[in-house]
Amino acid sequence: MNSPASVNAQGLVAKQPAGVEVATAVAGVPGVKGTPSVLFVDQSGQLGGAELCLLPLASTWAARREVLLLADGPFRARLESLGVQVELTCDARVSGISKNAVRFGWLMALPGIVRQARAIARRAKAFDVLFLNTQKALVLGALGKPLHRKRIIWHLHDIVSVEHFGPVQRLVVKWLTRFAVDHVVANSRASAASLVELTHFAPESVPVVHNGVDLNAFQDIDASDLRALRRHLGLPETAWLAGLFGRLAPWKGQHIALEALANLPDVHLVLVGAALFGEEAYVEALRVQAAGLRIEDRLHFVGFQDNAPAWMKAMDVILHTSTAPEPFGRVIIEGMAAGRPVIASAAGGVTEIVRHGKNGLLVEPGDAAALAGAVEALRAEPDRAQRLVSQALIDVEQHFSLDEYIAQMTKAIAYVAR
Ligand code: UDP
Repeated sequence: MNSPASVNAQGLVAKQPAGVEVATAVAGVPGVKGTPSVLFVDQSGQLGGAELCLLPLASTWAARREVLLLADGPFRARLESLGVQVELTCDARVSGISKNAVRFGWLMALPGIVRQARAIARRAKAFDVLFLNTQKALVLGALGKPLHRKRIIWHLHDIVSVEHFGPVQRLVVKWLTRFAVDHVVANSRASAASLVELTHFAPESVPVVHNGVDLNAFQDIDASDLRALRRHLGLPETAWLAGLFGRLAPWKGQHIALEALANLPDVHLVLVGAALFGEEAYVEALRVQAAGLRIEDRLHFVGFQDNAPAWMKAMDVILHTSTAPEPFGRVIIEGMAAGRPVIASAAGGVTEIVRHGKNGLLVEPGDAAALAGAVEALRAEPDRAQRLVSQALIDVEQHFSLDEYIAQMTKAIAYVAR
């Protein structure tokens, strides 16, 4: 980054009551004339956490803005339905590079990388700020900086550790962040810490803005007649339902939930989500595992669902089972907003949201027995579950509101445009 010291000088980082570091006031930063125009870039056309985080920011942006996607998919339709102009620049070779790509993978995609970096640079010229929302967007947007010469902000949604990324990717991220990115905002302290470790930036130069949820979207769902809601969604009306939301992928740990389910005879498990990035083999493995555990009749694959608030409200408990540290975990704040008790894997950004025994329960990642025990505990003690839910609703309103998230991101973008 060009000037982490000046970030400090502007007082961009402040302690929140909950001990959460967030980017704070930039109002009055010299040189900011109104709301800057922004080109948002995202590598995915799918609706993952990073995209659902960008959606409300891009759609409510108060100045000229456009979203440039590096792949097509339902994200485009969602943006367009909210009146956001979307452009596409797709390249199958570049899309095919995985997070753990080795040197060869990058070399094969080189012509596509150059083409896409130039395409981003061409579009960026018409905007004040280039907002990069994902890793590939970072690489391509930052590589083109000599061509577009625009200020760059990177929204970091990942823990850039060896657990999640290959050595080439980490090296590229390290040098591009140092020399081409003007400001980084991380989605959690866990993500920020991983970048600080990689780049040796001063910790205070990577402010944290946690995701926010629109509480109204949850309040709008009438769950007073739970049976009717479940009937409407095609779920068993009277079973005790545990919901696990998110894409089907090994590190999201759906197999841990299946293992736990085998020890919870009266519970049904609903897997809400799909294999978004080619993890079909894992889905097949889950089906084989379910057959082996004889839990098929209590396991429901419902695929990707657009209306997460309704599906969450239809559950008795929301599970989060990631086996690797989760960068943030939107599903957790959504579960809290839905007024359902949450049991989550204690690693990464999750521990910045869930306070064990206060607003939810934490279990060790990968510990199916502990997960089953936590579910049993909540079933056995509905009053305790209700206390967790009440506190979670207070916490989500105080620390994870959509308004606060948008306000903080707006300030960070305005700061970059100064
Ligand atoms: N989600 C959804 N429909 C589904 C499954 C998941 O809308 O069928 C949403 C979920 O509500 C959450 C996001 O996908 O907002 C997942 O975000 P999270 O941060 O939990 O995981 P990520 O995708 O970033 O790894």
